[in-house]
Amino acid sequence: MSEIYDLIILGAGPAGLTAGLYAGRSRLNTLILEKGGDGGQIAITSEIENYPGQMPEGESGPSLIARLTAQVEKFGAKRAKETVKEVKLDGESKIVVGERAEYRAKTIIIATGANPRPIGCRGEAAFVGKGVSYCATCDANFFEGFDVYVAGGGDSAVEEAIYLSKFARQVTIIHRRDALRAVKAVQDKAFANPKIGFIWDSVVEDLRGDGLLTGLTLRNVKTGILTAIDADEEDGMLGLFGFIGYLPCSALFEGQLAMENGYILTDEDTRTSVPGVFAAGDVRRKSLRQVVTAAADGAIAAMQAEKYLLLG
Ligand code: NAP
Repeated sequence: MSEIYDLIILGAGPAGLTAGLYAGRSRLNTLILEKGGDGGQIAITSEIENYPGQMPEGESGPSLIARLTAQVEKFGAKRAKETVKEVKLDGESKIVVGERAEYRAKTIIIATGANPRPIGCRGEAAFVGKGVSYCATCDANFFEGFDVYVAGGGDSAVEEAIYLSKFARQVTIIHRRDALRAVKAVQDKAFANPKIGFIWDSVVEDLRGDGLLTGLTLRNVKTGILTAIDADEEDGMLGLFGFIGYLPCSALFEGQLAMENGYILTDEDTRTSVPGVFAAGDVRRKSLRQVVTAAADGAIAAMQAEKYLLLG
């Protein structure tokens, strides 16, 4: 039979890595499973300026995560690249079935995070990677000197628009209301940026282009009026970045854990509805989704897993 770990952590974003750091320091036999690179959404965040104690001049998500990964490795949590296909959470020994192997553990921390929500306009899927993106850090340089549109009005949309303005000729934020949701300090930066404009009360209705994205149709949600936006003829393309929130990565746990709108329900100590199973970070229902709250969840979850191993 395969090794039984004390703890398996699903996901290596800020919540999972912090759980791994704490579990490693507590000498729990810990395995972190991650299907992609470390960092989750932070790996695609261009600049972080509100993580306590970070570089005061601002820091990129990948830079912060690289330091966290090194810190986790120092304390001994094992790592494996794995796409998890199935979990069986109810028994005393929890089973995680991956593409490469099957794993067992006495406790599980779910830190699978969330993925960008699609904009929801016609033609979107066909233009992903051909004008449509959900990651400014990854794709901003493809739009050097082009016109770029950003859908959304929250922190992500406004912060990433500011980042995109370093590359694009002009960035236009398309928001479905007439007031931004983003925190005031970030709004002020965007309003003061001459390369950022706004289209209010509007959503993206459909996309067009022959291979590359060359045009958008917007719908004013108050008047119903449709407006076509076309790429500059010489450019021959434009960019559309979607930042309209996230969808939790929780499908694997449906029917096994209590959830609400796809978010895993926990108590304040990150305990789910199943003993020995904890959820940390953006995948759990909570009021504030930030790197600092993900890290806090990870620390709490690891300590609760340790307590569960000792006391049941
Ligand atoms: P968010 O705060 O949920 O904002 C989503 C934005 O998209 C809102 O402005 C919303 O409009 C709009 N929207 C939602 N559904 C839409 C649709 N179907 N069509 C058009 N627009 C739509 O998402 P987020 O900005 O990605 O942030 C997620 C979480 O991470 C938040 O808690 C945020 O504070 C946090 N975050 C923090 C930082 C930071 O602290 N530096 C950075 C990034 C994200 P309405 O305003 O009308 O609802």
